[in-house]
Amino acid sequence: MNNKFIHTYFGLTARDIPGLQLAKLKNIVEFHYSNNITYRKLLDDSGIHPSQLTSLEQLSLLPIIDSKQLSQDKFPGFCSLSLNDVATYLETSGSTGKPKLIPVAEKEIPHIYGHVAQMLSIAGIGSPYTNNGRGNRPIYCLFPTGPWPSSFFIQNGSEQLAPTVRADVRMPMHWHKEKLQILKPADIITYPSFLSYFYDQLKEELDFADLDLKRIVIGGEPFTEAFRTKMEAAFHTKIYDIYGCGEIAIGSIECSYSRTTGYTHWCAPELLLEVVDPETMQPVDDGEVGIMVVTNLWRKSTPIIRYVMGDIIQKTSKQCECGSSLPLVSRIKGRQDDAFCYGAANLYPDQINKAVTSAGYSDKFVLEIMDTADEMASELVMNLEYDGPEQQDSIANKINDQLASLSMEYKTIVRLEKFRPPMRIQCVKPGTLFSQSMTKLKRFKRITVDR
Ligand SMILES: [Zn+2]
Repeated sequence: MNNKFIHTYFGLTARDIPGLQLAKLKNIVEFHYSNNITYRKLLDDSGIHPSQLTSLEQLSLLPIIDSKQLSQDKFPGFCSLSLNDVATYLETSGSTGKPKLIPVAEKEIPHIYGHVAQMLSIAGIGSPYTNNGRGNRPIYCLFPTGPWPSSFFIQNGSEQLAPTVRADVRMPMHWHKEKLQILKPADIITYPSFLSYFYDQLKEELDFADLDLKRIVIGGEPFTEAFRTKMEAAFHTKIYDIYGCGEIAIGSIECSYSRTTGYTHWCAPELLLEVVDPETMQPVDDGEVGIMVVTNLWRKSTPIIRYVMGDIIQKTSKQCECGSSLPLVSRIKGRQDDAFCYGAANLYPDQINKAVTSAGYSDKFVLEIMDTADEMASELVMNLEYDGPEQQDSIANKINDQLASLSMEYKTIVRLEKFRPPMRIQCVKPGTLFSQSMTKLKRFKRITVDR
């Protein structure tokens, strides 16, 4: 296969990117304006015509797109293609309860595969500087098959870089064991929850040091540095974070330098990133946490233009030692949907993840946020997989100590002012909260209790 695309992102300088972004932005806004009646009306209502776009600053004049537009109930209302130009449909869970349906244009497929391959090669996958970009050892693509974006993007993008194993997560563990031993993959790409499940299932049967993995790339859920350290020791290799979803393919990935710094490379040539305050939708300053609003500069099937992604992130002006022109952003800190208030404390998913893993417990937990009509009676209950000798109260103390050290607000309401009880822990047997049929663990559940 021809791998000319491999060096496209690497050849860009940081100064080339804004001009490229503006040209692509004009193009994509014009395309959707001409081919999508719903989008045209949105743009007309906001009083801007695509021909008036002359600078990237004008992005903020374009209307915000809500993910509800992609709900399958509305299909094909927000599709900018003739249906005979659609190659396939990707499906992802939506905030409305109905799945989001994302068509993929047949004509954009080579671009998508090249984009994914280039992002993966930032983590060193394939051999970008030798062998015409292709690696000899396979990539183990460990995802569920189905209409899900992860397997579509990663499988097809990986095939551009090296032989890629269609290692469906639901295949039996003896199948995985044989394939790992016979095919000797250099890389595994999967979800964090599945990676730790995979280890638990195979640790008695396989010597992971013998596999000589070059790296493991995980994404699709936030994970902590403590989880990374634990999995690196378990698999005897380095772990890289990747961020992607159906609307944008791959947004960011760590390089071998950034992976120890909390930052990841954003795919600026393809994606414009705005970080905004979730209430005012106004941009926050660099270094401040906000929610992602993303403009996909290549997607023609449906307008992903100022699209509210809802993931929590931070921009930075820091430069990466690797010298890449792709800017750094923080790793994703969770989803805005999973952030919650406990009394006056705003708590983010990554604070909870960190509190649990730095106290030394399993990453397999589900936090139930019990909302009551009387706010004073709300409480937090965590179900945690654990079968050791410690008592629940002692575990709860350690996790609450960690959370209090990560959040001054939590410390104030639980320890100083005692407005709210500390989080309660209920231990459950390992294997109760997560199984092979799940792949991802939904860690935050909001429950309305009638008390
Ligand atoms: Zn880098």
